[in-house]
Amino acid sequence: MSNRKQSQKRVSRTQIIKAFTRTAVVGLGCTALALGLYPVLALGDTEAAGPVDQVLTDSNLFRPTHSDLGWSAGLTNDVRSFLTLTGAGTTRQANQIDNNPEHALNEAGMRPLVSNDAGVALWSNCSPITVSIHLSELLNDTSAAKKVTLDAVSQLAILTGLDIRVETESIQTVKANDLDSLPPAGSREIQLIWVTEGSESLEDHHLGETELHFSEAQLELRSATVILSDEIINQAADHQHRTSDSAMLSVLHELGHSVGLGHSLDPHSVMAPSLADEADVTLADRSALAYAGTRQC
Ligand SMILES: [Zn+2]
Repeated sequence: MSNRKQSQKRVSRTQIIKAFTRTAVVGLGCTALALGLYPVLALGDTEAAGPVDQVLTDSNLFRPTHSDLGWSAGLTNDVRSFLTLTGAGTTRQANQIDNNPEHALNEAGMRPLVSNDAGVALWSNCSPITVSIHLSELLNDTSAAKKVTLDAVSQLAILTGLDIRVETESIQTVKANDLDSLPPAGSREIQLIWVTEGSESLEDHHLGETELHFSEAQLELRSATVILSDEIINQAADHQHRTSDSAMLSVLHELGHSVGLGHSLDPHSVMAPSLADEADVTLADRSALAYAGTRQC
């Protein structure tokens, strides 16, 4: 990319969210590595049909840490109702615990990626998060990868309410040999790196991996690196029953990890360890992503 325009493109938040009906296969092997002050958590997603290693345990739950529910302004009524927020426009379900979003998310099978007794690690929502996109020059279809990435990032911004920005100059085509020498993601950066199917950057048949850096003390996400395989795009092109939206959902799945979401127990969720044919952005997904944007400074 030689475009040196200085203007920033803010991801549109007015885009209408489409209804998805998808086919895609994303299995998963997750490994969590705690490294020093800024632990790294790496996720691998694979389409392998082998055993699924889920990191879903009772100790990995959303916890009630938000006494201030002022962040709920602007949420749609269905999300507010799902998160058990009370007030005008919401509907109560039997047995709900009022104003306890974390309980509602846990009950729906949603899990955070990083949590401890003190709470859940999230991005603070008070300054921009920059997204950089690095595309291997060897991709089969660079423009398709770029488009699906921008679509997914746009959805992420809409659904989380995080101030997520893509700068034109931050979209780059990279020589394959240079992919390994990219500088690490900076503070408040989500770095997206597209590699070719079979690249050594990913394990065999992994469609994506997400690495999160966070402050353990403050339970705050600081940066993320997401490696995406163009197998995501190739699958969509190779199989007529797949659509571009399935590729978008695969990217959105990884981006969900990048904002702190773990996997969902609901097989229809975009955050399910294995993306079902019917996978969609469910109400629980939208609610969990909205929750991901709730951290005060
Ligand atoms: Zn995953």
